[in-house]
Amino acid sequence: MTEQTSDFLDDDHPHEECGLFGIYGHIDAAAHTALGLHALQHRGQEAVGIVTYDSGQFNSHRAIGLVGDNFSTEDVISQLTGSTAIGHVRYSTTGGTVIRNVQPLFAEFKFGGLAVAHNGNLTNAYAVRRNLIERGSIFQSTSDTETIIHLIARSEYGRVVDRLTDAISQLEGAYSLVALTGKKLIGVRDPHGVRPLVIGRLGDAYIITSETCALDIIGARFVRDIDPGEIVIIDESGLHSLKPFTKKPRRFCIFEYIYFARPDSMIEGKHVYAIRKNIGRELARESNIPADVIVPVPDSGVPAALGYAQEANIPFELGIIRNHYVGRTFIEPTAQLRNLGVRLKHNANQGSIKGKRVILVDDSIVRGTTSTKIVEMVRAAGATEVHMRISSPPTTHSCFYGIDTPEREQLMAAQHNVQQMADIIGVDSLAFISIDGLYRAVGEAKRDQELPQYCDACFTGDYPIPLVDRDGGGMPKQLSLLAERD
Ligand code: AMP
Repeated sequence: MTEQTSDFLDDDHPHEECGLFGIYGHIDAAAHTALGLHALQHRGQEAVGIVTYDSGQFNSHRAIGLVGDNFSTEDVISQLTGSTAIGHVRYSTTGGTVIRNVQPLFAEFKFGGLAVAHNGNLTNAYAVRRNLIERGSIFQSTSDTETIIHLIARSEYGRVVDRLTDAISQLEGAYSLVALTGKKLIGVRDPHGVRPLVIGRLGDAYIITSETCALDIIGARFVRDIDPGEIVIIDESGLHSLKPFTKKPRRFCIFEYIYFARPDSMIEGKHVYAIRKNIGRELARESNIPADVIVPVPDSGVPAALGYAQEANIPFELGIIRNHYVGRTFIEPTAQLRNLGVRLKHNANQGSIKGKRVILVDDSIVRGTTSTKIVEMVRAAGATEVHMRISSPPTTHSCFYGIDTPEREQLMAAQHNVQQMADIIGVDSLAFISIDGLYRAVGEAKRDQELPQYCDACFTGDYPIPLVDRDGGGMPKQLSLLAERD
């Protein structure tokens, strides 16, 4: 890694968990976008931005922090005039989020202005960026999204959609994106369809957003998912669809179903909540053990624990109570704060676990921090046995496609077998859903080993999209908010 390359990545990292919202043809575009982003807040809590277009001018407001803290006042919304808008919530990074990285990013081109917001991770962005810099491009941010902007600017094509297509065809990775020009709202999903993106309608207005829960909040109607590899263009003549990329196997991220998406969303025709309950049922079939209560680790473990309890016919109890005024444990940047965060966030509900054999259900074990603390707490509250059941297979590999995970060395399941993990966490028994059990829960007979129906790289190490930057050398180690820092 050269001095120069480390510089432009030092205050950020290329992994982002994000939520997208775009609306075309509504008089209150900015207010609806703010509401949509509020429903997508679980996809990113560090920064938020909205760009609108109104009679020849783009208006933008971008801020560090939550949607509600930055877009709740009439002052802000009233400045964002226009009937088209795109917005973005973002969660990333080491070293703090800097405002120049907050999306949507906006640029003036020779054909006019364009704003872009992106969810996912481009796996060759670093290589493309290095190449662009060598050819004279000057980057203002450290975000992947700016790479798309530079490629659009350099494209030899004339029409904006052709330029965008040309830009995207040079990129590898998992992404969904929304773009806004003076005349069009555009939505794109990568050819594998790793990240979600859906179309909705509110009266005559069109919406493109990450999850259906963002349609529900504004009373919009779900129309359909954008297909993998599809570009959807909305303009005054309606909705147009293009499929310009080489068709690739569908590989939707299975972890969206397990943890990341909101349980009230529907993705690719499946209710996230129903899938989580199914996983719980499968888990009970695979690894039940005699117990008195099933206790979810709230909130992420709740649907799977319900499914488990129903299948095993064991009472479901809220044996752990979560304080909702603390952010996700993962957002705490240092190990010390993260540990403190866990204690701040959960408390044992003694009355429902004292003297009982408890099965705790959570969605995943990443570093093991949460589980270790929770088990200690449940034992201290008087549980006689503590078993743990996890509604995902062991997380053995980092995600390079837009879910923030630590380096492999920090993944507990990459370093230890299940028995060792049980010993470290301090449980009487530990079991994970099998990979085929997980596939059954999403409606498949089993995982197709040749051509898996989903992206499950975090559990299998089977990465469907080439990791050009990581494998090509020269790339700094994966930087992550989750990584321990000195
Ligand atoms: P850990 O404490 O490191 O084992 O993390 C596991 C906990 O973090 C589980 O309770 C999950 O609900 C949650 N989790 C898993 N993956 C993520 C992620 N990518 N971002 C934020 N939280 C996560």
